[in-house]
Amino acid sequence: MKGLFLSFIIHYFLLFANLGFSFEIRIGIETSDPLQISGDGYFEIYGPDGFIGRRFNSGINLVSHNNGIIVGGYGVFSPPIFIIGVGESYPKLSKRRYRGTIEINKKQEILQAINTVDIEEYLYGVIKMEINTKWPMETLKAQAVLARTFAYQSLGKYNKRGYDLCDEVCCQVYRGINAEDERAIFAVNKTTGEVLYYNKSLANIYYHSTCGGKTTNPKSVWGGRENLFSSVVCPYCSGSPNYSWKLYLSFDDISSKLNIGNVSSINCIYTSDGRVAKIIINGKRIFGNEFRKLFGTTKVKSTLFRIEEKKNGIMLIGKGYGHGVGLCQWGAKKMGDFGFTYKDILSFYFPGCEVKRILED
Ligand SMILES: [Zn+2]
Ligand SMILES: [Zn+2]
Repeated sequence: MKGLFLSFIIHYFLLFANLGFSFEIRIGIETSDPLQISGDGYFEIYGPDGFIGRRFNSGINLVSHNNGIIVGGYGVFSPPIFIIGVGESYPKLSKRRYRGTIEINKKQEILQAINTVDIEEYLYGVIKMEINTKWPMETLKAQAVLARTFAYQSLGKYNKRGYDLCDEVCCQVYRGINAEDERAIFAVNKTTGEVLYYNKSLANIYYHSTCGGKTTNPKSVWGGRENLFSSVVCPYCSGSPNYSWKLYLSFDDISSKLNIGNVSSINCIYTSDGRVAKIIINGKRIFGNEFRKLFGTTKVKSTLFRIEEKKNGIMLIGKGYGHGVGLCQWGAKKMGDFGFTYKDILSFYFPGCEVKRILED
C-alpha cells in the first residue's frame, strides 16, 4: 500500500510537470516539532494509506507521537505525511509557500519537512537569494545555469538525511515561492534544462561577489587537487562596492584571536595568482581561508590582500569580496551591461566549459 501511494505521488508529478523536464529535487526545509502547515487556498493531507483530509487556508499542527505523527484534528498517522495544494493553491510551512509537495517525516523523534519539487521550480525560489534580480537578464541567466548545474550535481548530497539539499547557504539558499520574482522565473525558463559541462561531466561550479581583478582556482583556496579551470583576469568588476577595501587589526585583537602572546612577526605566503595562501604569525601558520573565518568573512572580505604595518596593529589592503573562484558576480553584471550573452559570461569565467542541456548526453 505504501509503495502504491508513493508511485501515485510520482505519477502525479509526471502528469502535471508540463515543463518538459520532470526531474525532482528534495529539499530539507525545516526540522522542528511541532510543525505548522497551512495554505493559501485548499490543500490536502495524505498519509501512506491515502487521503486524510482537505483544508482551506487554516493552519494545522503536526506533532511527533510514539506511534507516528499527530495530524491536528485528524488523529495519529504513520509517516510520511504529504501536503499537496489543490489547483492553483500552495501549501505553506511556517510562513513560506512552496510549489510541489511538502513531506513530513519523523527523524529521531523530531519532525522533518521536505519539499519535493521540480528542479526548474526549485530554481525559481533560489535566484533572488543568490543575485540581485534587477541586474541584466543575461547575468541572471548565467546565474540560473550555475544554480541548476549545482542542483543536478548535488542530487543525493544529503541522502542519509532523506533529502538532496538543505535550503541554507551551505547548499543554495532557497525560500520557495516567497523568493520568486518575474525576472528570476524568466531567467530560469529561458535556460530550461541548461547546465555547465566540463568535458563529459557536470562542471563543479563556484561563484562569488567580486574577484577584485583576477579569479582564482579551487585548489589555491581550499587545497586539494581540483584545479579544473585556471584563474582569469577580470576587467569587469571595478564597479563593485567591494572592489577594494581596508581593514585595521590591532595586535591585541590578533593575539587574543590566535591565543598567542605579543605579536612579534607577521608574514604572508602568496599563491601564484596573488592571494594569501598562508599567514604566519609568531611562527604559527594559518591558511588564508581560515584567517578570513577567524576575523569574519564580512570583514576580511577576500584573501586578495597585502599587509602594511601600522601603530599597534596591521592594515589589510584588499581587493574583492568572496573566495574568488569561478564566476565573479559583479563582473558578470558588467558583462551583461556590455551586451555579452550568458554563454559568453559563463565561458569567460569557466574556460573550457560548455553550456548544454542536461539530457543531451
Ligand atoms: Zn546544506
Ligand atoms: Zn571580477
